[in-house]
Amino acid sequence: MNWIRPKKDLSKESSAMTVRLLKSLTMTKDEEYSCDDAHALIDQYAEAKKRGEDVEKLMPLVKHHLDMCRACFEEYEALMTALDFEETI
Ligand SMILES: [Zn+2]
Repeated sequence: MNWIRPKKDLSKESSAMTVRLLKSLTMTKDEEYSCDDAHALIDQYAEAKKRGEDVEKLMPLVKHHLDMCRACFEEYEALMTALDFEETI
């Protein structure tokens, strides 16, 4: 019957870990955008930026994501370039 005790301790520990994990996931969701979230707003962000609006205040989470994520930042730069191009035509 020796195995009961370690098993009980283990499950207690792992459920505490699960709670911590869930907590950190929830916090991440509140504070940060995923690439999908950023993608959904990135053209609005670029257009607002182009209009000279204060996008860092209007969409701080998009701005934050662009600071963190190279792929989305490149997407944003490409959009800005495309908008520049439209303007010069
Ligand atoms: Zn991203």
